[in-house]
Amino acid sequence: MTSIERRKELNPKTTTYEFFGPFGALLITIGAPLVTYALYLTCSEESGGCPPNGLAMRTALQNMAQQGWWMSVWDTEAMLVYLGFYAFCVVAWAVLPGRIVEGVPLRTGGAKKYKINGLATFICALCIAIAVIAIRGPESFTFFYDHWIGIITATIFMSVLQSLACYLHSFLPSKLLALGGNTGNPIYDFFIGRELNPSIGSFDLKSFNELRPGLILWVLIDISMACAQATRRGGLAKVTDSMWLVVFFQVWYVGDSLYNESAVFTTIDIISDGLGFMLCFGCITWIPCTFSLQARYLVFAPLELGPVNTSLILLVNVTGYHIFRSANNEKNDFRNGGNTRNLKYIHTAQGSKLITSGWWGRSRHPNYLGDIIMAFAWSLPTGFNTPITYFYVTYFVILLIHRERRDDDKCAGKYGADWKTYKRIVPYRILPLVY
Ligand code: NDP
Repeated sequence: MTSIERRKELNPKTTTYEFFGPFGALLITIGAPLVTYALYLTCSEESGGCPPNGLAMRTALQNMAQQGWWMSVWDTEAMLVYLGFYAFCVVAWAVLPGRIVEGVPLRTGGAKKYKINGLATFICALCIAIAVIAIRGPESFTFFYDHWIGIITATIFMSVLQSLACYLHSFLPSKLLALGGNTGNPIYDFFIGRELNPSIGSFDLKSFNELRPGLILWVLIDISMACAQATRRGGLAKVTDSMWLVVFFQVWYVGDSLYNESAVFTTIDIISDGLGFMLCFGCITWIPCTFSLQARYLVFAPLELGPVNTSLILLVNVTGYHIFRSANNEKNDFRNGGNTRNLKYIHTAQGSKLITSGWWGRSRHPNYLGDIIMAFAWSLPTGFNTPITYFYVTYFVILLIHRERRDDDKCAGKYGADWKTYKRIVPYRILPLVY
């Protein structure tokens, strides 16, 4: 077999499209950055609040048009701060100690090795932020609130740059491509991700982006929003309970994801998806800039919840977290050879076992259910004055319903008749007895 034939066999042509093909890919590539900016225009002080005031929003738009669209979203200081932050994450990955773990087996045989030190990077970033705030006061840490549009632009710049670089890099010889990203249509492949694991030496860009720059920036943004609120209200002691809840929930979620860093190596993103615009933009821009909307809202629309509402929202979050974490742990432990809870399972012809009891016996994606409940708890502290702060949970429901269907297709292809058997035993997709 010649090397070209070997490459073709290893990287077969993709014959099916997701996301409505190149048209859908183009729409999301253009639309998602616009939505990120739109969330600022429809929910900010400059546009008169959330929902916006028609006149204030028109004035804000006119000012932007007068200044020139590009100049109104460009902020050199924000770009430099963002690049400095990204460089900090890379340096921390390189210098902080960490265990080396193996990912799942690759089509080429063997497996990639990953350095696990995301939590250490996160703790470092948190310590620096807390030290700055302790020494110089909350007013010294309001940069992300003050330079919001510039920060969005900086992250979009990084997403586009990386997606383009990854797309071009994928054409170098002997690259392992994602099975879903080799259609030959440049718009689609650029979006969905062509190369499976773009890396520079042992630095794997996809897993790095999944867990570090986006998640850690999200928390720093939240902290910055709490500082902006503190500055307006006369000190950290005056920060509202709603703001503390949002910050606490999201710090917990990010800390938990980084504490369980190795779990990411069995996710769809790492195993199957290539690194293209979808994942670059999702991790680098979308997560920090849209998931922090609630905290940003609470800066200019502070809300005191009181002990009863605070406790109820805490309860919703704890319920979601419990389902999310125990379902993910159940599967991870089982897939790593453990079965302390004596879970029932079926053998598949393909070799893997599928759990049919416990959380994975109640629905085929109990972990998504927990995630959705938590997402709801993160919007509740903003009250019910505007639907816009419920953007995150609404988007997340759509994302996870779509993701479940993608995963269902993947598993149907992989397991064939065994997947049908599993679906007969576990008929619900996400929400037991309902969906
Ligand atoms: P999952 O962790 O749910 O993994 C799905 C895979 O698990 C399947 O492809 C299959 O893989 C295996 N599997 C399916 N059913 C069973 C079973 N019964 N027993 C054993 N293995 C099974 O997928 P995701 O990567 O989508 O989600 C990981 C986490 O990340 C979730 O908690 C999700 O909520 C969260 N998430 C968060 C996002 C965010 O923006 N905050 C975005 C997306 C996800 P195999 O081929 O190995 O059998």
